[in-house]
Amino acid sequence: MVFRTLTQRVSRTHEAWLTLLLLLVVVVPLAGLLWFVNRAAQNERFAVRQKLLEVYRAHLALAQERLDDRWKQLGAELDAQANQQAAPALFAKWVLAGTADAVVCFDPAGHPVYPQPARVMLTQSLAPGWTEAQSLEATDLPAAAKAYARLAGTTTNLNAMATAWQAQVRCLIQARQNDEAIAALAGGLRDNRFPQATDGQGRFIAPNAMLLLIELLQASQPDQAQVWRQALQTQLLDYDSGLLASQRLLLMRELHRLFPQAAAFPTLAAEALAAQYLERDATNRHVPVLQMSPLPGVWQFASASGRIVLLHRTETLPARLRAACYSPGLPAEVRLDFIAPGHEKEGALLSLPAGPQLPGWRLALSLNDQKLFETIANQQIGAYLWGSGLVGAAVVMLSLLALGMVRRQLALTQLRNDLVANVTHELKTPLASMRLLVETLLASPQLEEQTTREYLALIARENIRLSRLIGNFLTFSRIERNKYNFDFHPVPVAAIVNEAVAAMHERLNAPGCHFEMRLAPELPALIADADALVTTLVNLLDNACKYTGENKRIGLEVRLEQGQVRFAVSDNGIGLTPRDQQQIFKRFYRANPLRSPTVGGCGLGLSIVQFIVTAHHGTIQVASEPGHGSIFTVSLPAGETAAGTPKHP
Ligand code: ADP
Repeated sequence: MVFRTLTQRVSRTHEAWLTLLLLLVVVVPLAGLLWFVNRAAQNERFAVRQKLLEVYRAHLALAQERLDDRWKQLGAELDAQANQQAAPALFAKWVLAGTADAVVCFDPAGHPVYPQPARVMLTQSLAPGWTEAQSLEATDLPAAAKAYARLAGTTTNLNAMATAWQAQVRCLIQARQNDEAIAALAGGLRDNRFPQATDGQGRFIAPNAMLLLIELLQASQPDQAQVWRQALQTQLLDYDSGLLASQRLLLMRELHRLFPQAAAFPTLAAEALAAQYLERDATNRHVPVLQMSPLPGVWQFASASGRIVLLHRTETLPARLRAACYSPGLPAEVRLDFIAPGHEKEGALLSLPAGPQLPGWRLALSLNDQKLFETIANQQIGAYLWGSGLVGAAVVMLSLLALGMVRRQLALTQLRNDLVANVTHELKTPLASMRLLVETLLASPQLEEQTTREYLALIARENIRLSRLIGNFLTFSRIERNKYNFDFHPVPVAAIVNEAVAAMHERLNAPGCHFEMRLAPELPALIADADALVTTLVNLLDNACKYTGENKRIGLEVRLEQGQVRFAVSDNGIGLTPRDQQQIFKRFYRANPLRSPTVGGCGLGLSIVQFIVTAHHGTIQVASEPGHGSIFTVSLPAGETAAGTPKHP
């Protein structure tokens, strides 16, 4: 017993050390893993930033290259077209295409050709009789009008004719003869000759007359006014008509003032800007680079020869620059910005000079999402964390598995130690008593028959005890190695009971033991392993004898209850506490061995009984009271075949 306790304590210490070791095996790699993940996360943040910066730098360089190429190409294209197309048409084309906010065209000598500068006053051709008609204006306007009308009808010079017509209309308006003025204007405008007539400054007379007609018609005949408005608008947008820029600008403004909704001119702002530019000193245009123009907030870019100058307002320029270096491959998370000379861009990720065509300008890349690097790095780190989490979980699981295996191994070792300790101890007692009895017999000079018989009976009892003990050890060993095979057959209950009682005959019929057996009539046969059931009953009857003092009253009752055959083994022995009743079926468990020191046993019998009963799909119950005895009841299903061999508890 002492030996067993000692081995148990030693084994528990081993187990504690082993658990600690396994914990270390888990904790140390896990801590290392966490450290690595942490380092990897830091490195990942840095690496992601570097990697993305590299990619963005390449994109930026590409954009810069495109921009430079585009502007060089633009300079050459402008010159080529200046040689092929008339300046007003070029102006309209580039402005309407959105290439610039305004365009100024020069001739090879450097004189502006569109918009044209104001012309020197030409000598106006006047019809003969002009002075007489003019002198009438001071006294009789209607008469003057008539005189001018006559002049217009008689003269052959086109410009003189148109001037007389203009004067006629002027007199009619001054004389408040609007209807006559309208009729005169409409009549003249329908005359095919007038559209080509110009005044002393080279301005076409017809478009001005048309504007006058529209103004006169607006109050009385708005529909007609709209018809003429449409005609004038078409003329003003015709850049092949030879109309002077200053006249076009003036008429566009006037028409737009009269009809703010209907008369919208897409080139009006450009005309105004170009005119403003020419009013300033526009001589510094021979460098084909983007530079500030003399107008505030306006940039100029001249073609290689300086014949075409594109004007850009500061607010519209970035969109054009962006379009020039448009790169479909530019990642969506970044934005291309243009930084004007002397400006800074806050939060720009990278910047590069915009190229020789745009001196002082810089191209910059900014992040649309300032947390982009962090987000991408976090995605990567998330993957690391998942990976390491899985590895960690695997390590923990494997360690738990290993721990379980080691525990099982330890339990097995413990079992083996217990078995060895018990076998040696339990074998020693019967062997020693047998040896003593034999030696006593041998030592006596003369053998008395009575004494010899008594001694031999004692030796036989010890022998039986020894055999049962060894039988239990062997059974237990087979169970532990899963080598216990049952042989199920239909067996009559009486046969099992009789064999068990016969095996216990001597003890049950010993003096001081009263054994009573009650078998219910007509018990059904059991499908069982007969030997195993005999072992069960023998163990229970043996315990009943062992754990009962003088005046034993042992009973064996077999009855049929609820379709089950019940074997109840009762005694009036020392009984069991409720706690012991729960433990006694565990192997090697002995309930307070000090209370029955004389009886042998190693706590295997009941565990074997339970194993056999379970294999027969039955149950075992104990009802006991300390000092009053116990009843062990085995219930087996009547006539049922056992399905297999259960694991030993
Ligand atoms: P053992 O070889 O010690 O008898 P068992 O497994 O048969 O082993 O019994 C386990 C323990 O249960 C015994 O040591 C004993 O303390 C208790 N026990 C078994 N049967 C009885 C009984 N009929 N009366 C009192 N105690 C019993």
